[in-house]
Amino acid sequence: MDRMPQAFQNIRRKILSSERLTFEDGIELFRSTDILSIGALAQQARESMHGRRVFYASNLHLNYTNICTTRCEFCAFSRDAGAPDAYALALEEIESRVREAVEQHGINEVHIVGGHNPALGLDYYVAMIERIRRVGPSLFIKAFSATEIEDLARRSGLTVTAVLETLKRAGLDGLPGGGAEIFDPPMRQKICPEKISGETWLEVHRTAHRLGLKSNATMLYGHGETDEARVAHLLKLRELQDETRGFSAFVPLACIGSQAFLSSKSLKSGADLFTSGYLDLKILSISRLLLDNIPHIKIHWIATGLKFAQAALSFGADDLGGTNLGENVMRAAGSRSPRDLSSEDLVRCIRSAGFEPCFVDSSYQMS
Ligand code: SF4
Repeated sequence: MDRMPQAFQNIRRKILSSERLTFEDGIELFRSTDILSIGALAQQARESMHGRRVFYASNLHLNYTNICTTRCEFCAFSRDAGAPDAYALALEEIESRVREAVEQHGINEVHIVGGHNPALGLDYYVAMIERIRRVGPSLFIKAFSATEIEDLARRSGLTVTAVLETLKRAGLDGLPGGGAEIFDPPMRQKICPEKISGETWLEVHRTAHRLGLKSNATMLYGHGETDEARVAHLLKLRELQDETRGFSAFVPLACIGSQAFLSSKSLKSGADLFTSGYLDLKILSISRLLLDNIPHIKIHWIATGLKFAQAALSFGADDLGGTNLGENVMRAAGSRSPRDLSSEDLVRCIRSAGFEPCFVDSSYQMS
């Protein structure tokens, strides 16, 4: 080990004896440059949970509106109402996209996220879920990040609980993990000053879990955040998971935001500005090691590229996500990953990396 070998040995001993890692252990791992040793430990943890299995879905992304009043600094997807390329999808269009994806691609899941659009009321969201449920009675409907739920509740004059109960009755199965960004208040203030706090994000997920809705969790990195902020973020997720057991997967998200954000002078003093393959692997592996109670670590191949995602399967990731038909958010941020992959493409990708593909939806029930 490159630095503090004794500390690393101690971490290795803890992992081998299933002892929980501390905040200080997390910092040690981030300060190390030995990603092969960290990756080997993460892979050991991943294989003890899932063997050589890699999970994947056939899914459609629906980004129903890009109009957003929150306008986070890093977001290349959102637009002001009235912008030439601002849009909100009609319910008929949503239904027809889902129908086509079911009939032509055999999807088993829809993933729905969009902006905070004041023109869309709760009735629109409920009708969207009901229509999708009618088209695909067995589809797993994973919809609306915690920030959208909170925005909708506030605009509707309802509690988060009431909104989630209403959407669940309409057919909602779970929540995606977006909007967590980084919980550290000063850093959050810098990259998304208008967004709900980290505590509120956690509270929305706590409520969803209490209502029996599973969810994912995320962390946005590569925008100048510190190692301390990363470890604290991961441990907050672990703490909530101890309480609710409602998180299915953690999805680390590298910041590939808008050009204006990435060239912002105010961010250039931060460490690890811009992500790298090295940082991506390290975050994946350390997440696997610290999040000992979250079953799955997902690599978002649209952000990282497919070849990198294959390598990530040997650094702690066990979930390749889905075919991601129709994804627009990462595309807007500059992703050049291939479009319109089929399930067979993902199977080939998993097998050629030496793993065993398992077709699931976000419930992780194998079909
Ligand atoms: S990240 Fe979400 S909340 Fe923030 S500006 Fe983009 S769409 Fe709006």
